[in-house]
Amino acid sequence: MVTYSFRCRRCGDFDVRAAMGEAGSRWPCPRCGDASARRFTAPRLRRGDPAVWRAMESAERTAEQPGVVSAPPRSGTTRVSRDPRHARLPRP
Ligand SMILES: [Zn+2]
Repeated sequence: MVTYSFRCRRCGDFDVRAAMGEAGSRWPCPRCGDASARRFTAPRLRRGDPAVWRAMESAERTAEQPGVVSAPPRSGTTRVSRDPRHARLPRP
């Protein structure tokens, strides 16, 4: 997916995410429906931690269509010892 920028003469700038090559030189404004001219800007290259980008993409993707889960997230993955001698160890 690529982000394309357009400028409506009445409403201003807006972005459209579409497949590469899908957006032409004109795109209907989401507010008024007028054909808006495409703006050419510097490419938005990804920088930074890929994990942050994955989290941002996931948040964007699930904003309107939340993902379905079968169980609540696991909390506390630390292993607990069942050995009674460990309970007698000094605590900080
Ligand atoms: Zn408009």
